[in-house]
Amino acid sequence: MVLKGIPVSPGVAAGKLYCYEPFHVEAAEAFCGAGQQEAELARYQQVKEAAGAELAAVVSSIKDPEKAKIFTAHGDILNDVAINEEITEGIAVKNWTGQWAIQKIYAKFIKMIRRAPDPLIQERAADFEDVRKRLLRIWEGVKETNLSALAGPVIIAARDLLPSDTAALDRDHVLAILTEAGGGASHSAIIARSYGIPAILGIPDLMAHARQAGTAAADALTGELILDPGGALMDHYEAKRRDFIREQEETKAYLNREPLTADGVRISIGLNIGGGGEEELAGEPCTDMVGLFRTEFLYMGRDSLPSEEEQFEVYKKVLLRYGDRPVTLRTLDIGGDKTLESMQLPREDNPVLGSRALRLCFSKPDMFKTQLRAALRASAFGRLWLMLPMVGGIDDIRRAKELIAGARAELDAEGIPCGRDIKTGIMVEIPSIAMIADLAAAEADFASIGTNDLCQYLTAADRMNPAVAAYYQPYHPGMFRLIRQVVEAFDKAGKPVCVCGELGGDSLAVPALVGLGMRKLSMGLASIARIKRVLSGLTIARAEELAETAVNLPTAGDVELYLKKHLHHNESRP
Ligand code: PEP
Ligand code: MG
Repeated sequence: MVLKGIPVSPGVAAGKLYCYEPFHVEAAEAFCGAGQQEAELARYQQVKEAAGAELAAVVSSIKDPEKAKIFTAHGDILNDVAINEEITEGIAVKNWTGQWAIQKIYAKFIKMIRRAPDPLIQERAADFEDVRKRLLRIWEGVKETNLSALAGPVIIAARDLLPSDTAALDRDHVLAILTEAGGGASHSAIIARSYGIPAILGIPDLMAHARQAGTAAADALTGELILDPGGALMDHYEAKRRDFIREQEETKAYLNREPLTADGVRISIGLNIGGGGEEELAGEPCTDMVGLFRTEFLYMGRDSLPSEEEQFEVYKKVLLRYGDRPVTLRTLDIGGDKTLESMQLPREDNPVLGSRALRLCFSKPDMFKTQLRAALRASAFGRLWLMLPMVGGIDDIRRAKELIAGARAELDAEGIPCGRDIKTGIMVEIPSIAMIADLAAAEADFASIGTNDLCQYLTAADRMNPAVAAYYQPYHPGMFRLIRQVVEAFDKAGKPVCVCGELGGDSLAVPALVGLGMRKLSMGLASIARIKRVLSGLTIARAEELAETAVNLPTAGDVELYLKKHLHHNESRP
């Protein structure tokens, strides 16, 4: 069977298929039949013991003692006397089924904890929720699935992958990623590209078909997925995979070259990073800056918010590594498809248009201050550029700057040193700020264009919704016009401007961006060699010609075709 999706991270893979289906259960109200209480109580004890054994195995398999502590605490919750008394009483006296007793009593405790005045206690609700899910899953006889310990190399099929799933990914064993949800600018796509894992997203009805299949061939160059392909096709795709890797090896030779156009113009290349781990930082020697530090990754895949000290250590490490080159640290960007286990966000009809990123930080001043203090303290060790996500207007910039100044004043009063030349800049990803880029340039020290969200808001097409993937058009001439306006405004004000969204590492778009005057591009490690190769075959005159045409072509399809022709022509030259 052949399915089709959106190829978002290039590559080819053939192998075993693994369907990732995280367990979600809510037990409904139900009662035991007469005389069944004894058996139900015994079953509860059994399930509890099995949960205890699973937790003990997790604790002994985790190397990081901080992470292990979380699961030790889950063991304590499991054996909590008050909870167990209430569950037992519910079954024995009120005739509740074990599952309903677990659901009801845990829900009661979770509600109580969420109402606690101390935010640190409130955060523990997520731990109780985890234990509840574990018990109900075991009761249902469902095995635990997660992506952090895969038995061997597999192609992962999932309805969707949340950033917290991908944060824990056992990368050595992932051949490719397939999902029903998401498109080229979703976070699953960004992670797949940054890890160099082939990925096809937005495949309609993927899970219904994948559940019936054992193997797959994923062609993330064309977007084709073949389920149970059989020997001959597997061989064909294996050969295609080897060809792709050979081509990649040739491109790799460009990784450490200076990013110069064919006529010698120097383009600054920034690195996009997530958690600040060593694998990402391998891109440090071949980049001029960190152009985007997605700090929210430090907050994901854990049950509590990272402390000031913890954040400080990570930020300091990255700043020290870059020395006198800027590290653009984006303040917390949560909301939309980026959720945290440690924070219950209110349900919103349109979360992408809701309380996300900077707006959310404004509504949680203590959390924001913790991050600002950590970043400002780390600024003493390098060149910190603080970047604000989801800025919609000048008010946002002013309000954030006040909060930054407040955190700074606190540190000064405590005698804690900060760096001297800290810049505060903005992400341009909401059209309203792009439209007044000249006014924004008067208030911000720099700008970086987040083309992923900018495209989502400009074309009014959810970047996560495959049903409108055709409307999400990063090559829309309107995108290039708006980017031109932002570049011109910041150039005029003499302030740096960069592209750190996916277009910045897109070999089709980069020639046009350079032609619009962009001289800074930031991207994941996996794109750097290719972009340096593209730049090496481009003159500024040609780039300007491409840009001029791109802003005047009528449709995104026309622009894409036109830019493709240029790229192929260039690549076929010796
Ligand atoms: C963007 O929107 O282009 C961007 C870089 O931010 P994120 O993808 O993390 O939303
Ligand atoms: Mg964004």
